Amino acid sequence: MVAQQQTKKRFLFLMSDTGGGHRASAKAVRDEMVTLYGDAVQVEIIDVFVELGLWPFKCYPTWYPHVVKLQGIPWGIGYYLSDKLRLLHLLAYLDWMYVRGALRGLLDRYPADVLVSFHAMINPTLSMALRRKYWSRPVASIAIDLVSVHSAWFTPGFDLYVVASDGAKARAQRCGTPEECIKIAGMPVRRDFKTAADISQEQARLELGLPQDEPVVLVVGGGGGMGPVTAIVQTVLSRCPGTRVVVIAGGNRKLYEQLKALNSNGSLQVEGFTSNMPVWMRAADILVTKAGPNTLSEAFITGLPLVLYMALPGQERGSIPYVVSNGAGVWAATPEKVAVAVQELVTDTSRRQALASGSRSLARPLASEQIAQYLWSLA
Ligand code: UDP
Repeated sequence: MVAQQQTKKRFLFLMSDTGGGHRASAKAVRDEMVTLYGDAVQVEIIDVFVELGLWPFKCYPTWYPHVVKLQGIPWGIGYYLSDKLRLLHLLAYLDWMYVRGALRGLLDRYPADVLVSFHAMINPTLSMALRRKYWSRPVASIAIDLVSVHSAWFTPGFDLYVVASDGAKARAQRCGTPEECIKIAGMPVRRDFKTAADISQEQARLELGLPQDEPVVLVVGGGGGMGPVTAIVQTVLSRCPGTRVVVIAGGNRKLYEQLKALNSNGSLQVEGFTSNMPVWMRAADILVTKAGPNTLSEAFITGLPLVLYMALPGQERGSIPYVVSNGAGVWAATPEKVAVAVQELVTDTSRRQALASGSRSLARPLASEQIAQYLWSLA
């Protein structure tokens, strides 16, 4: 047993529950590593800011839903002000004395052969740790944004930087990342989305108890049910009679209660946090969503036409032109525009099919597997 433990390759995945995407991506790659390498691999996923145990870092997951309120304006200010490598180096120097002890404790608690970052905000600290010889084994950064990518993903010294698109690679190069360290793989998405794409829509609806004879519109606001979801749902319900609207409220309990209280004559179905997203997506005809990179990449694999109602300033903004110019969906900035777009897609089957095929053309179903292989080769 001890001998087997010692021959395992150990990976420590650093993420944080600031939104649902970091954990979803880390789990997707972990599952793929276990599928590919079985007992030979050990992957630990931790919320790095909580595990550091230091104020203010440990508050990030609880602060995040508040910072992204007000149409993400406070978030956007922080994003754009910090999106400069020189400033990030300076901040890392300033907080190193404060963080280094906690980081050393964390690395002792979770011994690993390879560190993998799924969160840009820890990267400047990891760069400092490499420079100060706190860590001498391989480190990888998995940039889980589609096109607009914060420079913190590319702080220097890492062995591998994985990105999701050509646009993201160009950003990495502008940040001075050596070409040979960059790999384009796509966003890491759970294998279940690929599997669900192979079942019929009828079967998915049967499984979920959804009607076969009504168009189904799925509404998702990321892991935290963000944006004006209630107003969107009310407007869509009033403009598109005969349409079944399903909302995944994620971890947003308040949104869940609000929607449950709506009188929809049976046209609205509300779910809390679900682990069954692949089947919900497969059952749907249209996805109304915030431009979260994970949700979008999952929808591409499922081949869903998209109506984007919100994009966080910074990392999600570039996804709007990416989706629209590739013919995968439309941008609808108000609940009224969302309802108009949904109405058009419900009635115009050929338009809906065209967007579905545009969406499918952006799919990278092998991304998680590729990332797992890149990481394995680092150890
Ligand atoms: N998600 C989920 N269950 C839910 C709501 C969301 O599994 O009830 C997942 C969703 O499938 C996606 C992630 O949470 O993988 C959301 O990531 P995204 O990048 O779209 O947005 P974020 O929440 O990070 O802002």
